[in-house]
Amino acid sequence: MHRANTESPSILIIGTGFGGLGMAIQLKKAGYQNLILLEKANRVGGTWRDNTYPGAACDVQSHFYSYSFEPKHDWSRKFGLQHEILGYMEHCVEKYGLGEHIRFNSEVSDASFDQRLNRWNVTLTNGEVLTSHILITATGQLNQPAWPKIEGLNRFRGRIFHSARWDHDYDITGKKVAVIGTGASAIQFVPEIAKQVRTLNLFQRNAAWVLPKPDRPFRPWEQWLFSKLPVWDRLYRYLIYWKNESRALAFTRFKGLLETFARQARKEAQKRITDPEKLRKIIPDYQIGCKRILISNDWYPAINQSNVNLVTEAIREIATDGVITADGKHHPADAIILATGFRASEFLSPITITGRNGRNLNEAWKDGAVAFKGITVSGFPNMFMLYGPNTNLAHNSILYMLESQFRYVLDCLKALDKYPGAAMDVREDRQERFSQVVQAGLKGSVWDTGCTSWYLDENGKNTVNWPGFTFTYRFSTRHVDTADYRFLNPAN
Ligand code: NAP
Repeated sequence: MHRANTESPSILIIGTGFGGLGMAIQLKKAGYQNLILLEKANRVGGTWRDNTYPGAACDVQSHFYSYSFEPKHDWSRKFGLQHEILGYMEHCVEKYGLGEHIRFNSEVSDASFDQRLNRWNVTLTNGEVLTSHILITATGQLNQPAWPKIEGLNRFRGRIFHSARWDHDYDITGKKVAVIGTGASAIQFVPEIAKQVRTLNLFQRNAAWVLPKPDRPFRPWEQWLFSKLPVWDRLYRYLIYWKNESRALAFTRFKGLLETFARQARKEAQKRITDPEKLRKIIPDYQIGCKRILISNDWYPAINQSNVNLVTEAIREIATDGVITADGKHHPADAIILATGFRASEFLSPITITGRNGRNLNEAWKDGAVAFKGITVSGFPNMFMLYGPNTNLAHNSILYMLESQFRYVLDCLKALDKYPGAAMDVREDRQERFSQVVQAGLKGSVWDTGCTSWYLDENGKNTVNWPGFTFTYRFSTRHVDTADYRFLNPAN
C-alpha cells in the first residue's frame, strides 16, 4: 500500500482503453486514490469502443487478451468479439470502482509542465485546466484514423466514412460500395458486408498475407472447466503466451521460418479462390511478416464472391459518384469506406505536450518518437506513457506489455516517494542508449525488408515495434533504476 504519511500524489490519466483502465486498477490497488481518468468520449473502451464495424474481433486469443489479474472464464470463443471485449472492460470499471474517477467528454488539448511547481497543467478542449503531480498518457497507438490523401475525397456526394467510425445509420444493403484498403480492419468487415451489398469494389494497394484463424466457440463444458479449475484457466493462458512468444524469433532474427506461413497462406488462397485473376492479385509480393500477418477464415471466400471486384489499379481521384483509377476507369459507388488504418506513429497526437524549459514534444521527436523503455521521455518529468514508442508487438498480446508498464510506473511512483516534491526526469544519455539498442534490434528484422507499413514513420524509422521477446521487456521494466533519472526539485 502507498504510505499514508506521505501526501498522495495527484494523478491524471488520459484515456480509458486497456492501458488507462489497467493502470488505474493497479494504482488503486496500491493505495493511490487521488486519481482522475480523462476520457474524450462518453464511454470507456478506447479502440474497442471506436471500432464497431461488422465482424470486429480480436486477432489475439481472449484468455491472453485480458488482464492477468482479472481472468474471465466464460469467453464465448477463442478470439473475442468486439462487444464481448468492450463488455469485459466495462466489467472491470464496475468491479474496481473506477466510475467515480472517470470524467467523460473531457478531451485534452494540451498538457504543459510547470517546473516552478513540478506540476502538470492539463487543458481540456472546453478550456478547463486541471493540475496534477503525475501525468500518465494512455491514448493508444491506434486511435487517430488515417484519412488517405486522395484527390477529390471531399467531392464525393455519397456516404463516406472510416472503418473506425462506422456509420451504423447507413443501410448498406443493396448498395454499390467501394472499400479502400486491405488491412486488419478490412479483412474483418469485407466478408460481412459482401453478403449484403450489390457490388463491392475493393481497392487494394498491397495484398495482405492472410492465414486461417484457429477460432471456434468454447463449448459449455470448457467454460465450466475454466471457471471450476482456475489452474487450468491459467495454464491455458500460459500455453497461449508461449505459443505466441515462440514466433518472436522469426520476426526479428530468422525470417526464413516465416516461409512456412507464406506457403500455408498461398495454399489456402488456392483452395478458396477459383478466379485465377483474383488469385494472382491476392498473393502478396513482399516478405511475409513485413506488414502485420492477418488471420481470417472468410476473407478468401469473400474475395471469391462474384459481386466482389478486386481492383489493384492505383486510385487517381474520387469523383462525385465513384472512384477513378489511374487507367481512367470510373467505378461507381453509393458509399466509400476508408479502411486505411491509423496515424500510429503520431503518438499522443493531437495533444500538444510541453515539457521543461518550454520544450515541445513534437520538437523533441522531430527525428522520430523515442521514449526510455517506451515510457518516459527526457525533458518531460513525471510523465509516463503507456503503449509508447517501440512497445507494439506483431506476435503477442499488447496487454502483456501494458502490464509490464503498469509495474514500472508504480515503481517510479515509489521512487518518487523518497524525494518529496521532486519530479523525475529520465537522463537523456540513458534514453539515447536505450533507443540505440532498440533500433539495432530492429535492423535486419522482417519489418526492415522494404515494404511500407504503419510500423514505420514518415522517415522510414520503426518507432512502433518492440524488437524481440516480451519477457525481455518485462525483465527490463521490472524495477526502476533511479540512476536512470534525475530527481528535480521545483525550480523556485
Ligand atoms: P492497416 O493495416 O494500416 O491497413 C490500411 C490499409 O489501407 C492498407 O491496405 C493500406 O495499403 C491501405 N491504404 C492506406 N492508404 C491508402 C491510400 N491512400 N490508397 C489506397 N490504399 C491505402 O489498417 P487497419 O486495417 O485499420 O489495421 C491497423 C492495425 O489495427 C492492425 O495492424 C492491427 O494492429 C490493428 N487491428 C487489430 C485488429 C484485431 O483483430 N485485433 C483488427 C483491426 C485492426 P498499403 O498496405 O499499400 O499501405
